[in-house]
Amino acid sequence: MSIILKNVMKTYKSGEVETHALKGVSLEIKEGEFIVILGPSGSGKSTLLNVISGLDTPTSGVIMYKDTELTKLSEDKLTEFRRNHLGFVFQQYNLLQNLTALENVQMGSDIGKAPLDPEDILAKVGLKDQMHKYPYQLSGGEQQRVSVARSVAKNPEILFCDEPTGSLDEETSKQVLRVIEDLNRDLKTTMVVITHNPGIGAMADRVIKMNSGKIEEIIENKDKISAGQIQWG
Ligand code: ADP
Ligand code: MG
Repeated sequence: MSIILKNVMKTYKSGEVETHALKGVSLEIKEGEFIVILGPSGSGKSTLLNVISGLDTPTSGVIMYKDTELTKLSEDKLTEFRRNHLGFVFQQYNLLQNLTALENVQMGSDIGKAPLDPEDILAKVGLKDQMHKYPYQLSGGEQQRVSVARSVAKNPEILFCDEPTGSLDEETSKQVLRVIEDLNRDLKTTMVVITHNPGIGAMADRVIKMNSGKIEEIIENKDKISAGQIQWG
């Protein structure tokens, strides 16, 4: 499913203060694409991801998923659309602490229409031997891989990731990025990944550079590299 944004704007109002977080963003994301969104803090990256994925409503503009105009859906239909088609990974892992890795991933697969096998997905993220462990028994990188596995278990068409490696060290970040990369290649999941790290952009098909609420530049990345080759810093 391709996504088209036309002149999307978002203004936050708190009291007298208005923040123009998105000042007219137009963009097309193709099916199966790996998009990385880069840009300084406060440039509108999270706001962009939140309005594309229906977590938040734009102040104006159009967001189309194939023939579905997201901004015209009722709240119920939007919830259903998001459940059926979209997945999310955030910086905080948000795993349920009283469930094992496998049980967490099973919860994710339960909400899918054509879910993937939880054990297969855990094997894919390299945690087959650890699937009966509880979150506290896993390292940060392992927990984030469980979290990615849980998000993809329902087999979303598009996975949105907001700084998925933000709290991880270099080596564990690479492990998590490799998983995202593999899923994009093997399952053809469209990836929209926000990061602070310019190196990660090298993995993408296209890099969207945000600056003060606008797209500053779109870089077509013909020389895509793998997460394993990323130069950090
Ligand atoms: P980024 O993710 O690139 O750091 P954000 O999209 O979070 O940027 O924020 C863009 C701008 O919108 C910033 O100036 C931020 O302070 C403001 N902003 C974000 N969320 C809210 C909100 N809920 N209410 C008011 N202002 C917000
Ligand atoms: Mg952000």
